[in-house]
Amino acid sequence: MAFKSGFVAIVGRPNAGKSTLVNTIVGRKVAIVSPRPQTTRNRIQGILNRDDAQVVLIDTPGIHKPDNLLGRQMMGEAEHALECVDVVSLIVDVTVEFGAGDRYSAQWLRRFHGPAFLLLNKVDRVRKPMLLPLIERWRREFEFAEIFPISALTGEGCADVVESWIDKLPVAEPHFPADQFTDQPERFLVSELIREKALQATREEVPHAIAVFVDRFEERRDLVKIMATIYVEREGQKGILIGRSGEMIKKIGTLARKEIELLLGLRVFLELMVKVRPNWRSNRAVVRQLDWHRQLEQMAGGEDFAEQAPAGEIETEPED
Ligand code: GDP
Ligand code: MG
Repeated sequence: MAFKSGFVAIVGRPNAGKSTLVNTIVGRKVAIVSPRPQTTRNRIQGILNRDDAQVVLIDTPGIHKPDNLLGRQMMGEAEHALECVDVVSLIVDVTVEFGAGDRYSAQWLRRFHGPAFLLLNKVDRVRKPMLLPLIERWRREFEFAEIFPISALTGEGCADVVESWIDKLPVAEPHFPADQFTDQPERFLVSELIREKALQATREEVPHAIAVFVDRFEERRDLVKIMATIYVEREGQKGILIGRSGEMIKKIGTLARKEIELLLGLRVFLELMVKVRPNWRSNRAVVRQLDWHRQLEQMAGGEDFAEQAPAGEIETEPED
């Protein structure tokens, strides 16, 4: 049988059970829990490797009604992610009554043109007959390719979901070496951690305006040497991030380093730089760099982002 390989987005409101499902399916703790889900960009949650298939599970920014410009921006990123995936799975908590948020999720799904699954999660907590009206309710909102009652916690129904996902994936070579990327790519996790610490440390004075790229990731015997660049849009933001006599960037570095050490189980040497890239969010070259698919390709190929980007397109300010 031909090998199948592709991307599955798992979407759903906070607490629906996304992380639990990923952990159950991938079989180990991989999904990072974020205290502020709405700031999470597209990322790999886990990779399921089988003899006949590779399923890359990705997370997208939470589905929520955008009430401001930033929110719309995040939704834009979520839509962008939809263009790159093979299957979308909407996971919902059956113990929570169908509401306006669910109707919004269904509308949101219409932007996706591939197969969409509905996963009715936490069925271990309800009696089965109550599922039927709920399924009917959802059917009126959206035409799902498949609907599965599951329990991400006990694993009930999850094997069937995986089989159906694989059914919908294209025949393709694996996107990642099976042994190398059984986990979230470390570089990407590290960049997300640094971004999180930068937002926390600055008390979100520079929300969403920053992007973090790991330029170097060198593993020594008992030490990992990491060099990363935080990109901002304006000089003022750079000033905030660096702080008076470098205090802020030092604090961000320390916070991030501690958590990266926990994550990797190794001592970490972390060096951070801050650079200004005006309007990086509306710059195609930069947004392409941020795109998870490209990031992965580049990580898999061991290439460097900085060298990849056509310099003229994004170097709108001289390097410091
Ligand atoms: P996420 O925010 O969508 O990632 O949701 P989590 O995976 O963090 O789950 C939120 C809460 O629901 C956690 O306390 C889980 O233990 C619980 N949970 C998730 N799936 C199930 C399930 O199938 N059954 C039950 N009873 N609880 C679940
Ligand atoms: Mg989660």
